Amino acid sequence: MLYDVVIAGGGPAGITSAIYTARGGLKVQVLDPMGGGGQIGTVDMIYNYPGFPQGISGPELMDLMIEQAKIFGAEIEFGEITQVGKAEPMFSVQTQNGDLQAKTVIWAAGTTPKHLGVPGEDKFIGKGVSFCATCDGPLFRDKVVLVVGGGDSALTEAEFLTKFAREVILVHRRDQFRAMLANVRRIENNPKITVKLDSVVDMMLGEDKLESVVVRNVKTGETEEIRVDGVFLYVGSTPNSGPVGHLVDLSDNGYIVTGEDMSTATPGLFAVGDVREKPLRQVSTAVGDGAVAAWALEKYLIENF
Ligand code: NAP
Repeated sequence: MLYDVVIAGGGPAGITSAIYTARGGLKVQVLDPMGGGGQIGTVDMIYNYPGFPQGISGPELMDLMIEQAKIFGAEIEFGEITQVGKAEPMFSVQTQNGDLQAKTVIWAAGTTPKHLGVPGEDKFIGKGVSFCATCDGPLFRDKVVLVVGGGDSALTEAEFLTKFAREVILVHRRDQFRAMLANVRRIENNPKITVKLDSVVDMMLGEDKLESVVVRNVKTGETEEIRVDGVFLYVGSTPNSGPVGHLVDLSDNGYIVTGEDMSTATPGLFAVGDVREKPLRQVSTAVGDGAVAAWALEKYLIENF
């Protein structure tokens, strides 16, 4: 099957590209391992996306974006792209369900949450250890949970977890948060959140399920075992750039380097959203990336096909 554009990833960046390119009359296929939604589709509430003064839930926002893309004719399906190759002037796109041909590709595959790499972590995934507060938070009603990380994800999800848990312990390895000030203020004013700075989790303990964690203060060296029912990890992410890694320039951390028009080192291949090297990863910047890539892609098609 030949497409004008194949888009890897159905988060805000990929779906915005789909809206613009499908509205422009192009034949558009979006493939997403979860069928669309991206990481923001697992976030409880988004308060800083313009147009929603009371905030909007991640799933609701993504449902609306996907509906809009479909109205313009984009095909959005479950699927994972395993490899992209260029056989001039086309791209060959390998998926688990067969191969596609595309005149252009937009890589919007986002990032995958990092693990801590401490003893016990892998053993208790799904048995107390989670990477998704929206998915698993309701399981911890009136329980004690611990959140690891000092970025916006850790702080916003710690706040979300106070809806269910009776206590949320936030552990961050430094004495200053990386998160935006607005998010820091919200957790400082939340009586259910206890903050432990300069602290790291050394191990996770339990029999069949997680029962406690050992937390060490990196300045004093003191350790304490804290009884918890759940641990939520928000310690950053790894970019999902693998299948196009050989076609693009990568930053030291593996993010895709693009021009201002989202073009990569391979003409006709664009990268947008969190997978791209950029200073600010938000829904609003993802949406902007998606629109710019669609505009540049249409220009590329006119000049090359
Ligand atoms: P992030 O900004 O990379 O933060 C990761 C946090 O984990 C940092 O505080 C880091 O500590 C800590 N960390 C990393 N490795 C660790 C380890 N091995 N042990 C302990 N702690 C570790 O990731 P994020 O919070 O997921 O945010 C990703 C992007 O999405 C950011 O651009 C963020 O602004 C954006 N975002 C925005 C919102 C919002 O605006 N509402 C919400 C969520 C995410 P250090 O600080 O010491 O490096």
